[in-house]
Amino acid sequence: MADGSRSMRAAVLHAPHEIVVEERPVPRPEPHEVLVRVGSVGLCGSDVHYYEHGRIGDHVLRAPMVLGHEAGGEVVGRGDRVSRHDLGQRVSLEPGVPCLACSHCLTGRYNLCPRMRFFATPPVDGAFCEYVVLHEAFAHPVPDTMSDDSAALLEPLSVGVWACTRARVGKGSRVLVTGSGPVGLVAMQTALALGAAEVVVSDVNTARLELARELGATEVVDVGRTGLTESSFEADVLLECSGNPTATAQGVRRVGRAGRVVLVGMGGDEVALPLAHIQQHELDVTGTFRYANTWPTAIALASGEVELDRLVTHRFGLDEVEEALTLPARDPSAVKPVVHPQP
Ligand SMILES: [Zn+2]
Ligand SMILES: [Zn+2]
Repeated sequence: MADGSRSMRAAVLHAPHEIVVEERPVPRPEPHEVLVRVGSVGLCGSDVHYYEHGRIGDHVLRAPMVLGHEAGGEVVGRGDRVSRHDLGQRVSLEPGVPCLACSHCLTGRYNLCPRMRFFATPPVDGAFCEYVVLHEAFAHPVPDTMSDDSAALLEPLSVGVWACTRARVGKGSRVLVTGSGPVGLVAMQTALALGAAEVVVSDVNTARLELARELGATEVVDVGRTGLTESSFEADVLLECSGNPTATAQGVRRVGRAGRVVLVGMGGDEVALPLAHIQQHELDVTGTFRYANTWPTAIALASGEVELDRLVTHRFGLDEVEEALTLPARDPSAVKPVVHPQP
């Protein structure tokens, strides 16, 4: 299988609203790369955004590209110098490979590497296909008890782990999570696993709030009915996972003295923040961009308290990628659709 002479199927985005399933050569691993047979790929809001608009900010689709960056699978081929993995090793893919030489890489914040090559960010192909290659250091071994779906969803879990790290969530923390989409739900579960005393989750989507409650939220707030401003909850930490300007501003006001605000959700480029509240309470306000060094923690969490399979609401084949990409707009009960590329 590692000879690269065979072909595979890939779902390729040619232009907004235009996905074509094509035959492509199975990629050939470079010396430090492994060839991975993709078992499951989570569908992310960013995939939907590229499908709808052909761009995210400065990242513009200029040539056909494969979407999908949340993937798990099995090592089926090895470059000459691969030392970490045997054939048959099941892995979760960390989809961004940095340059490993710039100052950000050398100080451990490789998510900020300006030369990052990240799956499904133009011009780099993603994982809605049968096989991918990846540097072996970013193909993380997972226990055989973990499903392919969970292995794939270690990627969004990593976003939650990084947000909790940046927010210094720990034992006894009181946490507000605004937005109960997949990232809000994993951020909530991570905060609970790290020992947070209370985790309150807000959203307008009642199906997702119900899931948040089932997964352990201390309290859920349906902001379609009662605003966050009416809540008396005082948080140490806000994990803003909605990207919604109103949720963001109201959420910040719920954070008490010396609290931390981490802006994870992507909304408009500019959002109004309650400056006087931030100043008078000396809040630390930061954004997050992807993650760094999160997979070991994510694997441990997903082997224990954090439930990832529960987030999977829909499964699709490679021929149904377009259906998967349009699902979130059609079905408000959808949380995390996944694609299983193997025939
Ligand atoms: Zn994602
Ligand atoms: Zn770098």
